[in-house]
Order: sequence, then structure tokens, then C-alpha cells
Amino acid sequence: MKTIRLCLSAITLLAAGAVALRAQVIAIRAGQLVEPATASITPNQVILVEGGKITAVGPAASVAIPPNAQVMDLSKRAVMPGFFDVHTHLCLNLKTQGGNGLYALLHSLLAATAIETTAYRSIEGVSNALDMLRSGFTTVRDVGNAGNYADTALRRAIEDGLVPGPTVVNAGRIITPYGGQYHGIPPERADIGIPEYLYADTPDEMRKAVRENVTFGAKVIKIVVDDQPYLYSADDVRILVKEAAAAGLKVAAHCATDAGARAAAEGGVASVEHAYRATNPTLEVMKAKGTYLVGTDFTRQASHEMGMDEYHDWVVDRLKRAYQIGVPVAFGTDVCFVKDGETRGTLSIEFVTSFVEAGVKPAQILQAMTTNAAKLMGMEKERGAIAVGYAADIVATPENPLQNIDTVRHVAFVMKGGRVVRND
Ligand SMILES: [Zn+2]
Repeated sequence: MKTIRLCLSAITLLAAGAVALRAQVIAIRAGQLVEPATASITPNQVILVEGGKITAVGPAASVAIPPNAQVMDLSKRAVMPGFFDVHTHLCLNLKTQGGNGLYALLHSLLAATAIETTAYRSIEGVSNALDMLRSGFTTVRDVGNAGNYADTALRRAIEDGLVPGPTVVNAGRIITPYGGQYHGIPPERADIGIPEYLYADTPDEMRKAVRENVTFGAKVIKIVVDDQPYLYSADDVRILVKEAAAAGLKVAAHCATDAGARAAAEGGVASVEHAYRATNPTLEVMKAKGTYLVGTDFTRQASHEMGMDEYHDWVVDRLKRAYQIGVPVAFGTDVCFVKDGETRGTLSIEFVTSFVEAGVKPAQILQAMTTNAAKLMGMEKERGAIAVGYAADIVATPENPLQNIDTVRHVAFVMKGGRVVRND
């Protein structure tokens, strides 16, 4: 009886501790508060954070800082919502043999996916997730290439607080026509692409593939429309989109070709990924359907590392045309290579330079990285803004990004869900 009473009092103490922890208020003094949605900036603001959420925001003169609050002084910084990368592969590290062409790239993909264990790849995911967070990415959409659901394990570990990382919306196994993305596999090893890819060729297989992914923890569906001579048709895409929607999930479609991008947009996907060579008529269809372009707009360095040198100029030109036409754009990188002296985060945030080269205005770039991305992911009421009730996903930069967008590459402060990740 005595033991039980002791245990009960211990529980009471623990509960009291938890309440005290929850009640800890953090007050951020923001020198300049940036609102991406309106492209506006307000000086001398105070943000109160409690229980992982923003509870107050307003001028320093009118928002009272509670006496027990922990104060973070960002009065010399520009403060804004955390960034999104809506096309990541956190559980994939490619050693691409630096610029040796597409053949080398495909071999490195085969090596990484056919040889590496799912267990090891979830650890790669943990490492890349932390690097992304440190570069200011507080939300990612992780679009497959994670072995046998390493990405579901990563998402759960972050949600459970085992490891720090961005909010992850993961795709599980990539659904594709027979053969996946290897551009040729040996017949003796016809199953070499399993479990990396989930082959689905008939309508029944497509429905089952979506259901399998949902069962094993996918929160978005990723399809490959056109990495084989046999593309998914717009009707195929409709089947996949309908089945995903029935489970409350959106579809992201890998489309390397113009025909693939057209079929995906007509089939009703939420986002077309890459669309390297999309023509203006296809971009017009995307605009009309409200399909997001996730351009994975390779920097010159990333193009080279992937053995895809010519792609940089293609994506800059396509990005320019997409903005002229008015296609909604969300920031997504597709970085999966490793490079000495860089992290997954620094390599990914560098992609803003492709937008600058395409003549995109700083405000539009920031919107692609926050508000647009949140809308694409159906999170616009929870993330992508600094407002009461929103997740306390907050970053700060040395300069005003609306004047100098390059400052986002030098993030000095990161808070994720109310926890400080870095404060330089
Ligand atoms: Zn990708």
C-alpha cells in the first residue's frame, strides 16, 4: 500500500512538472517581423509561444511579456515562419560520382537502393532531417525512395520526440509502372527495384498500391508518370488520385517530360514535380487546374553533381515561364547527393539562387517557401505564417529577405514547435 502511495505521489509530481513545462512561455523580440503572404514587414514585434504554438503576436508596446517568460532577443534579426521543402528524399544519400553523367547517376541510385538496408537509411534520414532543420526547413514533404518505409519510421520518431526534425509528410513507396526509375534492370534480377518502388500497371494494382502505402504510414502519394517508355495516362492518374483522395491524401507526380506533366495535370494531381521541359501550353493547363509546380530547380552545382549539367538552364527558363503564366509554385529541391563541406540543408537552401536567376521577386520566392507550400500540403491554417494558433515554427535571418533573399541561406535562429534548434 505504501509503495502504491509513493508511486501515486511520484505520478502527481511528474504531472505537476509536465504542467509547469507546458506553461513555460517563450517571448521572442522580433526586430523585423516578415509576413510572406502580404510581403510586408513590421518593426519591433513580440511573439509569445506556449505549448508549441503561437499565442500572441503584436507590437512590443501592446503585447505584455509574462514575468516568468524565457525571452529570446532577436531584435537585430528579421523573423519569419519556417521554410518548407516539398520535395525531399531524406532517407537517400546518393554518391553520384560528381558529374559523370546520367549513367553514373542511375548506378548510384541502384547502389543506394538495392544494397543499403532500410535500417541504415532511416539513420541517414535522421541525420538529413536535423541538417534540414538547422538550415531553417521546419516542414518537408518527403517523396519516397526510402527503402521499406524508412520514411514512416523517421516521421514517427520525429513526431514522438525521439529525434529533432522538421514536420515530415512522407510518401512511403513510390508508385510507378513496371521497372521503376532505373531505366533498365537485368532480367535475372527483375525484383531488384523492390521494395524501393511499388509497381502498379492495371487499375486494380494502382488502387491496391495506394491502399498498401496508406496502411504502412504514407501521408502523401508519390507517383512516377514518365520514367519508362510506357507513361501513366491521364486516366491512370485519375484512378490514383481518386483512390488517394478517398483516404484523404494528395498526389505528387514525377514528370520529367512535357507529355508526362500534361497527363498528370489533366489527371488532377496536386503537384507536378520537375517538369523540366514543360511547354507553355502544359503550364497553362497547370494554371487552369491549380496544379502546383514543384520545379526542383537545380542550381548549377546540383545539376553538375547529378550529372545533369544541361538541366540548370532548362529549369531556370521553365521557372521564368511558369511565373509569367501564373502557375502556383512551391519550393522543392530533390537534393539527394552528398558533397563534402555541405549539408543536406545548405545544399537545399541554395536552390533560391535558381529562382533569383529566373528573375523571381524575393517576396514570391519567400511565398513559394512558406505560404504556397503550406497550401499545397493542406496546412495553411497551421503553418506557413506567424499568427495566433499557428505552430511555433519560426526562423530568423540577419537581413530583411524581402530586400535580400540570399539572407535565407544564413539562418541564425530556428525554432520548431516551440523548441529552439539553433540561436547563433
Ligand atoms: Zn525526387
